[in-house]
Amino acid sequence: MASSFATSTTVAIVGAGLTGLLAAHGLKKNGFNVAIFDGEAHINARPRDWTIVLHWALPVMQALLPDNVAAKLPRAICNPDLEFDAHAESFPVYNGVTGDLMFASPMPGSRRISRQRLRAVLAEGLNIQWGKKVQSVASSETGDSAPALTLTFDDGSTFAADFVLGADGAHSRVRGHVVGDAEKARSTPSGLLFATAIVNYGDAAKVKTVTDKHPVAAAAMGTGAVGGCGVLYVNDGSEGAAARDPADWTTFWVKIWQGKLDTAVQGQEAIDLLKSSETSKQLAEPFNLQIEWTPEGSVCYIDEMKYWVPVSFGGPEATQDGRVTLAGDAAHPMLIYRGQGFQHAITDVNNYIKALVATRDAGWDAAVRRREIAAYDAEMIERGAKAVTQSVQEAALSFDVEKVSKMLMARQGHGRSA
Ligand SMILES: Cc1cc2nc3c(=O)[nH]c(=O)nc-3n(C[C@H](O)[C@H](O)[C@H](O)COP(=O)(O)OP(=O)(O)OC[C@H]3O[C@@H](n4cnc5c(N)ncnc54)[C@H](O)[C@@H]3O)c2cc1C
Repeated sequence: MASSFATSTTVAIVGAGLTGLLAAHGLKKNGFNVAIFDGEAHINARPRDWTIVLHWALPVMQALLPDNVAAKLPRAICNPDLEFDAHAESFPVYNGVTGDLMFASPMPGSRRISRQRLRAVLAEGLNIQWGKKVQSVASSETGDSAPALTLTFDDGSTFAADFVLGADGAHSRVRGHVVGDAEKARSTPSGLLFATAIVNYGDAAKVKTVTDKHPVAAAAMGTGAVGGCGVLYVNDGSEGAAARDPADWTTFWVKIWQGKLDTAVQGQEAIDLLKSSETSKQLAEPFNLQIEWTPEGSVCYIDEMKYWVPVSFGGPEATQDGRVTLAGDAAHPMLIYRGQGFQHAITDVNNYIKALVATRDAGWDAAVRRREIAAYDAEMIERGAKAVTQSVQEAALSFDVEKVSKMLMARQGHGRSA
């Protein structure tokens, strides 16, 4: 039997990263009430940005968005003016010792986007409640006609919802609830450090060392560090903005190497560490030089990468009888090899919406809800576990030139991991 709140079912989304924002659009498009909360103070609270290649899940993402938002996607593309031929839609990997090309993985139809710019595009038209860090999700116990769940925030305020989607990223709080065991829900340090820098060289010749490796992005592997570089912004990101002179393009570099770090290092301290590191110097040109040339004051972070192989969720108490679940990095934080993380998040969002629509079509029947959400969880956990595990295996092969050819990236390209 349909409950009295059937026509105004509210899904509370925890986290306004790419996953939460995409879910908000997809749910709204399908007629659900959506409330979206994020613990950050505002959308630009952190200057960190990185690029994400959208490949096999791009058509699914486009279909989840309303037309007016989908039409703005070019604003998020790192270089929207590029001629996207087979070369531009590939990812080359160079030998980190010699600098020679080892292979180029074809990614037909792919586009590399800035995470910040895509977030800005997706945030438009949504009423995001910033500064709302979720502390807990509990049963409301207020009777059949009221929303079943209560979210409680750090500031003591609460919100009532019928469903909760935890899209709260790699250190998800909602994960602890649905797994029902804080220890099992804790992510695993990878023993790999990851550095990103956003760079304005102000020098066309230096920018050219990036685009000569590839017009979008490239990597070097097989030595003590994995290096990478690419183009981040060629314009100011406004509607139809013209490209700047290449000397003024913003580029990025990344570096992955073995190590442990309890607390992230950022800014000039991170740049100085990276410039003086032997593994940076050992990288083949120009990947080593791009690090060396980093101007003072560039945005730079070093973190230890963490991952979590998803496990089965706890029983009805943990999932509030199929009303609380996860999507995106909250569900399957993985290492950044083969660009799979957000694409699996898109898959999650698509499947979650289908499960909710099927439940609604059944008049919000509780048995259908349990079945649909359990099926969503099971598929997502199996797919996510495979993708996370593959990313860890991929990383282990990337520091030895003899093993790089065994990587999935070399053998199967950047296709869907699971
Ligand atoms: C360098 C790099 C390169 C990558 N490249 C690719 C790629 O090429 N292809 C690809 O598919 N993926 C890639 N990824 C992965 C991709 O970026 C992530 O999978 C994706 O951005 C995850 O988005 P999310 O919304 O799930 O998590 P997040 O972006 O972490 O968002 C979570 C949000 O939840 C909020 N939050 C956290 N806790 C709470 C709380 N308790 N209450 C309220 N709000 C909370 C946070 O403030 C944040 O805004 C890459 C990642 C990195 C770091």
